[in-house]
Amino acid sequence: MSTGAEARAAELRERIFELDHAYYVNDDPLVGDDVYDELLNELRGIEEDNPELRTPDSPTQRVGGKPIEGFEQYEHLEPMLSLGNARSAEELEAWEGRIRNLLKRFDIEAGEITYVTEPKIDGLAISLTYENGVFVRGTTRGDGRIGEDVSHNLRTIRSIPLRIPDAPELIEVRGEIYFPRSGFEQLNAERAEAGLATFANPRNAAAGTIRQHDPALAAERPLQIWTYGIGFRRGVDHAAHSDELDWLRERGFRVNDKIAVHSSDAEVVKRCQWWEQEREGLDYEIDGAVVKVDDRGLWRELGVVGREPRYAIAWKFPPMTATTMLNAIVWNVGRTGHLVPFAMLEPTHVSGVTVSTATLHNEEDLARKDVRVGDEVVITRAGDVIPQVVSPLIQRRKGKRLRKAKPPKECPICGTPTIKPEGVWTICPNRKGCPGQVFQHVKHFVHRGAMDIDGLGEKQVKRFLDDGLIADAAGIYELTAEQLTGLEGFGEVSARNLLDAIEQSKKMPFARVLFALGLDGVGSVTAEALARHFGSIDDLLAAGEERIEEVDGVGPILAESIVEQLSDEATLELIADLRRQGLRFELDESERRAEEGPLKDRTFVLTGTLPDLSREQATDLIKAAGGKVTGSVSKKTDYVVAGDSPGSKLAKAEKLGVEIIDEVALRGLVG
Ligand code: NAD
Repeated sequence: MSTGAEARAAELRERIFELDHAYYVNDDPLVGDDVYDELLNELRGIEEDNPELRTPDSPTQRVGGKPIEGFEQYEHLEPMLSLGNARSAEELEAWEGRIRNLLKRFDIEAGEITYVTEPKIDGLAISLTYENGVFVRGTTRGDGRIGEDVSHNLRTIRSIPLRIPDAPELIEVRGEIYFPRSGFEQLNAERAEAGLATFANPRNAAAGTIRQHDPALAAERPLQIWTYGIGFRRGVDHAAHSDELDWLRERGFRVNDKIAVHSSDAEVVKRCQWWEQEREGLDYEIDGAVVKVDDRGLWRELGVVGREPRYAIAWKFPPMTATTMLNAIVWNVGRTGHLVPFAMLEPTHVSGVTVSTATLHNEEDLARKDVRVGDEVVITRAGDVIPQVVSPLIQRRKGKRLRKAKPPKECPICGTPTIKPEGVWTICPNRKGCPGQVFQHVKHFVHRGAMDIDGLGEKQVKRFLDDGLIADAAGIYELTAEQLTGLEGFGEVSARNLLDAIEQSKKMPFARVLFALGLDGVGSVTAEALARHFGSIDDLLAAGEERIEEVDGVGPILAESIVEQLSDEATLELIADLRRQGLRFELDESERRAEEGPLKDRTFVLTGTLPDLSREQATDLIKAAGGKVTGSVSKKTDYVVAGDSPGSKLAKAEKLGVEIIDEVALRGLVG
């Protein structure tokens, strides 16, 4: 043994402990998985060459992090393990070869070995204990031996059965909690908007949510689970792992339906490659595929080494995170003047794509992470999510003199001195004259959710502004056929179509027009609520903060901000111009009639699948009767209409004591 190896092993262990703590306990990784995996592999290599250096507490021998304080601790009846990994077909075949050799050595006649392939869910491992069929406890993996009791949060996940039929005396069901990608993007967007810290990835969001003391938060978030086996068991056993999965499925557990059984090594490799291709299209993150020997009799024979079972292996995909250099931070301006930071990166590969820019979300996030130009940074890219900067590698900053990143003193687009009102954003106050803001605003005005002007996309908007054909959103309504046909790419037909689409947009209801104005904090739902509450722009303009605060979903801060924005000269001028063009600034007759309907002032939330009505039909029915439909349950919600497989909204409704009704009862209310 060389002392160099001993010293290096000790150094690596120390560093990996630190990284594990950040990753497993704080849910806030310090480096990319690529860097982490490299360090762990280096340590593994040293220990293989020098077995005497392998300490019992080495990260190669133990799982995860320490269970964190503040939760009741629970000792798993059977440990929760980690998995060895293969990164290529050769490594996978080598594993299969090792299994065959071992079995031969033990004199076991295994014949053809069958394998099961499963997605390797990148979430949070948990164990669910059922005593005589009743869910009694749910715990995290912790250090593999002792986990944290997080039953209160797991109970809010509707797909975890609280009682199972034909149950054995005692089982620990194992699975992975995850944050669906769709919900994750929305969560981070909302957090960024509110100036809160964003989550690095869905895994961290799932872990951060499960490790909360207040279950109301978990109930609000769309957590999901995939179960993939049983740990400890008393009173039930299965000859094959695939039988066990069927057994779980039959008892109501969520088991992935793309799990497959294979009788040849080549099929296994093909299926792992297939998962890699599927990866991007799934609503859950996977970081690999897991291959397991199907025959559970062989599991006992093959056993476990260190923290890894011999009968299973993870086929790992290239990591979604990478480390690269931050060359510059640039600032863009949003439609209401907010300055938004972006990272310009040394181009690098992340899960098969070259990434050269990434979002830094907002000023607060940037300050909190203390990302500086010249830093090496960890970036992550998950599916369709815009690449983001997770953190700087502070320890690599040593010796460099890097300055803290600050928002610019002048608007990067128009040069106007910026201001920093209370709140999280620095702002360019040049509302009407800043070309950056005007562009973002017109882009918002024409997009599908707002005035929905077909044929007028981002590119055209930019061109019309650059060519001076329009100066703001109202200018769109003054475009003429002569102007358009003179432009490259426009013939008579396309010019006419665009003008028709523009004309058509004048029929958009008041709520859409209000949303299209692009007031800060007024999304489509709030715009709708304001439109219905006040009925016309004149009433809204005359209303003070107090009356605006009566509107569902509007708190005091937003009410104040709406009043302020609506007294802004630029906004008032735009409203006057659009009015002159004939856009609708009040409810029409049928909308007003609905206001007098039987559901007037009633707020509904829909969850699950209704027997006859689609979600749109149910929404229309409620609206036509004067009711409102909102997306989340709050104290202001009057009814939750629940169908099959309802989401976490039902749990929230139960908690808040909101009345829960079904489709029949809804029809009754409508009359
Ligand atoms: P692992 O990659 O060794 O895999 C084991 C885990 O896979 C199980 O505990 C289980 O939770 C999960 N799993 C998902 N689907 C499964 C299925 N179908 N069957 C069985 N198990 C399934 O997990 P690990 O030990 O938690 O962590 C190692 C990984 O975490 C590494 O890839 C590493 O890159 C990353 N990590 C990163 C950092 C960092 O600082 N960036 C720190 C620690 C760990």
